[in-house]
Amino acid sequence: MSKIQVLDPVTIDKIAAGEVVERPASIVKELAENAIDAGATAITVEIEEGGISYIRIADNGCGIEREEVPSAFLRHSTSKIRTVDDLIHIHSLGFRGEALSSIAAVSQVELITKTAEETFGTRYRIAGGKEEGLEETGAKDGTTFVIRQLFYNTPARRKFLKTPMTEASHVSELMTRMALSHPEISFQFINNGQSRIHTSGNGSLKDVIYHIYGREIAMNLIEIQTEAGDVKISGFLGKPVISRGNRNFENYFINGRYVKNQIVSKAIEDAYKDFTMQHKYPFVALQITMPGEEVDVNVHPAKLEIRFQNQQAVYNAVYEAVDRGLRKEELIPQVKLEE
Ligand code: ADP
Ligand code: MG
Repeated sequence: MSKIQVLDPVTIDKIAAGEVVERPASIVKELAENAIDAGATAITVEIEEGGISYIRIADNGCGIEREEVPSAFLRHSTSKIRTVDDLIHIHSLGFRGEALSSIAAVSQVELITKTAEETFGTRYRIAGGKEEGLEETGAKDGTTFVIRQLFYNTPARRKFLKTPMTEASHVSELMTRMALSHPEISFQFINNGQSRIHTSGNGSLKDVIYHIYGREIAMNLIEIQTEAGDVKISGFLGKPVISRGNRNFENYFINGRYVKNQIVSKAIEDAYKDFTMQHKYPFVALQITMPGEEVDVNVHPAKLEIRFQNQQAVYNAVYEAVDRGLRKEELIPQVKLEE
């Protein structure tokens, strides 16, 4: 065996990057969440070759001050929390301070940013974790990231990427979730020069659903709004007639965050059971909010998983909200086919 040695920072960042950056869609997720945290009202995402060779994300948020730009790319550097106690009351989507350092470790990054207070903006380049320059530049208020050649310096990881078409579909799905979870923000998604999604940002969830899924789904929605204890649920349930053969249409957001959670999925599906055929999954778009201290979002580096303090209470609240919504429509329960 060799001697035990502490790894150098560049190697540590490359390893950490593996937990945050799996594919182009993970970069888009992290950067779009940063834009939301920065108070952006319009976010444009443009990709080429599925995002493998090119991703551009432009926002009109608060920008980053010139002096702060290099430190934003340091591992565990964040403006969003200060102490471990802050983890209990997270109001931002980010907090781990890992995204920018991870992305910069495995790609070529160019950043242009400007705060409202600054007269000129800042252009900064970093590739493979190495700074390549910082200069003054003319720029609009806000932040634009350009990410080129994902995994150019980690060929082993690059091999795990799928075809550009598949990667693009992951980004597209992510943009759908982002647009649904924040109807008050205008999202535009451009794939190989073609605009695919462009929401208005007028705050109407129904308008976003119409834009993304079309008329048939938008015409078959039941609006719900409930409160059980400190769990609030609002949004739309799809009528059982528009149920599909897979779970892709289950959209729910917990405190503004898109996550996957078995408790919530099960509560939704259980409530639909009397109304849908077997092996059909409903369309839903639900916002679920509860006090921050009742959800642990610090479970997974990509923040896709969460834990509830009181699982049963969440299950009950979701089940009842969906069940009541479906029953008030006086839908006719479907006759179950024998298994
Ligand atoms: P985190 O989001 O967990 O704080 P990141 O590595 O994603 O960590 O970002 C580091 C910091 O860079 C953020 O805390 C924020 O201050 C700044 N930042 C990143 N993206 C933006 C943006 N689009 N607009 C303004 N500030 C940003
Ligand atoms: Mg972040």
